Amino acid sequence: MTDDQRGRDRLLAWRAEGPSNYYEASPNLARVLAVRAGSDRLAAMEPTLARFGRVVAETVEPAVAEVERHRQFPALLPYDGVGRSVATVELHPAHQRSGHAVWSSGLLAGPVHGTDSFTQAGLFYLLSFAGEGGHACPAVCTAGLTRAITHHGSPALQDRYLPGLTSTDYAHALRGSQFLTEVQGGSDVGANTTVARLDPAEDGSWRITGEKWFCSVADADLFAVTARPEGAPAGTRGLGCFVVPRTLDGTTPNGFRIRRLKDKLGTRALASAEIEFEGAVAWPIGEVDHGFRIAVEELLNTSRWLNAVGSTGLMRRAFLEASSYATYREAFGVPIITFPIVREQLALMKVEEHAALASTMALTGLVDRIDAGAADDHERLVHRFLVNANKYVTSIAATAVVHQAIELLGGNGTIEDFTPLPRLYRDAIVYESWEGTHNVLCAQVARDCDRFDLLGSVNAWVHRELETTGDRAHGVGAQVLEALERVQGGFRAAVGAGAPGAAGFRRRLDEVVRIIQAACLAVEAATAPGDQAEKEAVAMLFVRRYLSPGHDPDTDPDWADLVALALGADGT
Ligand SMILES: Cc1cc2nc3c(=O)[nH]c(=O)nc-3n(C[C@H](O)[C@H](O)[C@H](O)COP(=O)(O)OP(=O)(O)OC[C@H]3O[C@@H](n4cnc5c(N)ncnc54)[C@H](O)[C@@H]3O)c2cc1C
Repeated sequence: MTDDQRGRDRLLAWRAEGPSNYYEASPNLARVLAVRAGSDRLAAMEPTLARFGRVVAETVEPAVAEVERHRQFPALLPYDGVGRSVATVELHPAHQRSGHAVWSSGLLAGPVHGTDSFTQAGLFYLLSFAGEGGHACPAVCTAGLTRAITHHGSPALQDRYLPGLTSTDYAHALRGSQFLTEVQGGSDVGANTTVARLDPAEDGSWRITGEKWFCSVADADLFAVTARPEGAPAGTRGLGCFVVPRTLDGTTPNGFRIRRLKDKLGTRALASAEIEFEGAVAWPIGEVDHGFRIAVEELLNTSRWLNAVGSTGLMRRAFLEASSYATYREAFGVPIITFPIVREQLALMKVEEHAALASTMALTGLVDRIDAGAADDHERLVHRFLVNANKYVTSIAATAVVHQAIELLGGNGTIEDFTPLPRLYRDAIVYESWEGTHNVLCAQVARDCDRFDLLGSVNAWVHRELETTGDRAHGVGAQVLEALERVQGGFRAAVGAGAPGAAGFRRRLDEVVRIIQAACLAVEAATAPGDQAEKEAVAMLFVRRYLSPGHDPDTDPDWADLVALALGADGT
């Protein structure tokens, strides 16, 4: 066999060996769910996750790749063949195919049908192996709108929309979207100028007029829209949160015009538009003067939580692509995974991926306890902290991990039809600005820390978490507490400096999130079922990397062993 034949055969063998079930290819998900949800709940959700792991690998990913390969992205159809205004978005049949697969998983079915927060997070994690894929954002928006209407909607609104929002039948389901951003400012939602007027002729309905600048899921059935009732105060305080049905008669756009679809860096299978509303019929979700609070607590907090779940899925997929490739690809006569530097790079990617899943599933546990009405005050405040801070850190980490995976595949990593990595990379960058940019999330946490003693609650929560760990993982728990003690003064000083969002606060926030992630990894190392040595090594590498100032791998006698243990015998 010639060398070139052998090289090509190795690539073919690598492809043939690719996972046919992402749930089975990611045993860490079950281990983390066992810790956070408990083994009984894991056992109950496992068949659903295992089924969907296969569906994403065999149906969703190929459909998403097909749309991307042929650049069959959403197209705007403003008018139909007889000249009626329809403001429709045309989608490729492959997109519809994957939509059926995603919705029938139960991802959006809600607790009444057995989809609690952990199941939803597990399913969304697996969906994200295909990147945004044109369905992740609609799923997140639908989940947020379901929460908003469940918690705040009138009985009439609930009866009208909840069955469709929680349907598992894609063809008849109602898909949600959320439009806050306007051209003059996305982060500064208080600058919204879209107006809401009470319609005196109709019972309880309002009319929305104004322009929204970034409208993802422009093909949605229900738009959640922030708008300012006439005469309401300026700023976020004056905003209402409304639901605008796409159409009132099944065809005609309900008082809106899609100006154009945006041509984006990533999330390209998703229709993101600029939309003008002119007297669209709308119903308020909850009290009109509580609109911004409802938008933040129900829509944005759901998006930020699931954005982080999505980032962890992207990271896992990238790691799997890179680690499997490294066992097949040969350079200088040996598989590249035999090079110590490659093994270290893979191990550190895995550490990052595990840390992101650890903190995100801890956050999911808080969402779950809040939903159940079981959360205490500390847990509510930790949720408030983590939902923003964790999104900020995990979205940056996702881009970094996908980037490293691309680099590990060399030139092939940059080729569109060789792996999904270029697509995942573009999606990861969008995830960073979606639902809050870095600085804006940091500024939000700073403001919250100024109003509430969030650090005190984080401190109490971390101590409580670590009570389970004992001396496991060579005292990782003790090192976490030591680091927490060390950074608290600087963190409080940065909050007290009165400059929320300043660079100093952002650096202190990075430290605290890394400490939380280390605590979560320590808990997993102590209590997760399965290979304890791997979990301990991951936790110890993480602590060395992020919690040990001045640590130098070259003078650390344990470094190489920890890298080997973290990577595991099969490098996955
Ligand atoms: C693909 C895509 C789809 C989107 N879909 C939607 C959607 O469906 N609905 C929707 O409502 N929005 C959507 N958005 C908009 C997104 O939420 C906004 O882009 C985001 O909130 C940031 O707003 P902006 O783009 O106006 O940036 P700006 O607010 O102008 O921010 C610009 C820069 O200034 C920084 N900055 C701003 N304020 C501060 C501060 N106080 N302190 C420090 N730094 C600050 C930011 O961090 C950022 O780096 C989408 C965005 C993208 C990219």
